[in-house]
Amino acid sequence: MSKDTAPPLPAPLAVPVADSHTHLDMQDSTVDEALARASSVGVTTVIQVGCDLKGSRWAAETAAAYDSVHAAVALHPNEAPRIVLGDEEGWSRQGARPSGGDGALDEALGEIDRLAGLPQVRAVGETGLDHFRTGPEGLAAQERSFRAHIEMAKRHGKALVIHDREAHADVLRILEEEGAPDRTVFHCYSGDAEMAELCAARGYFMSFAGNMTFKNAQPLRDALAVAPLELVLVETDAPFLTPAPYRGRPNAPYLIPVTVRAMAAVRNTGEDELAAALMANTVRAFGLDGATV
Ligand SMILES: [Zn+2]
Ligand SMILES: [Zn+2]
Repeated sequence: MSKDTAPPLPAPLAVPVADSHTHLDMQDSTVDEALARASSVGVTTVIQVGCDLKGSRWAAETAAAYDSVHAAVALHPNEAPRIVLGDEEGWSRQGARPSGGDGALDEALGEIDRLAGLPQVRAVGETGLDHFRTGPEGLAAQERSFRAHIEMAKRHGKALVIHDREAHADVLRILEEEGAPDRTVFHCYSGDAEMAELCAARGYFMSFAGNMTFKNAQPLRDALAVAPLELVLVETDAPFLTPAPYRGRPNAPYLIPVTVRAMAAVRNTGEDELAAALMANTVRAFGLDGATV
């Protein structure tokens, strides 16, 4: 079996669930194919997340075109430093000029701000801190961008989607300093049980991805076991983080049932009961009341 072979369709969920974080623009299939495959197994709604200007514009356009797609827009924490440092590859991908500096970041943030005001854009993110991929030279730009996104989410009354990679304490601190929006989601939750208690006390949503199924992910499963049910979400972060037993093969929203079943086992809950809670939580987190889910 090749590493590139798409995993088979899992058995459908009886109760529909949303994929709270995906990147359809980075996957092999068309949007129509991805959505059809997903809904055939009970994944009826997706949050499409933009990571740069081009991706954020695409997310907003796609959400306008499909009732079952809702958008999140942002400059990814690894993208903001590239803009400030004038990384040419980053600029050409975005079709913007390679001027660099804080002015270039402000210009890009202005466009994200405009997109964040659109009705089909339900969240600002993914933003946050990534101490794994961004080196010391990019940290100031990353933090400035994160603070600006928090302000935007609050001003527009949208959810905030956090990317936190090896930066738990700093992310929590900056959220406290700025004042977190009413609805804040830790995407691809990566903390332990202790951090889950901190997030729960602050009312932050914790979105679990396929990596909670990995052998070495016991701390994630411990976190999931203590997280309050009403704050738990599920996501693919596709094409990344394909759940076991398909780790390393391409991920897509139709694989959500694999992760939901693993989560139900960890929480010792029925699959349907968990699925209903996950959908209700996604509606609350992203303000989807009245939308097609
Ligand atoms: Zn992320
Ligand atoms: Zn992502």
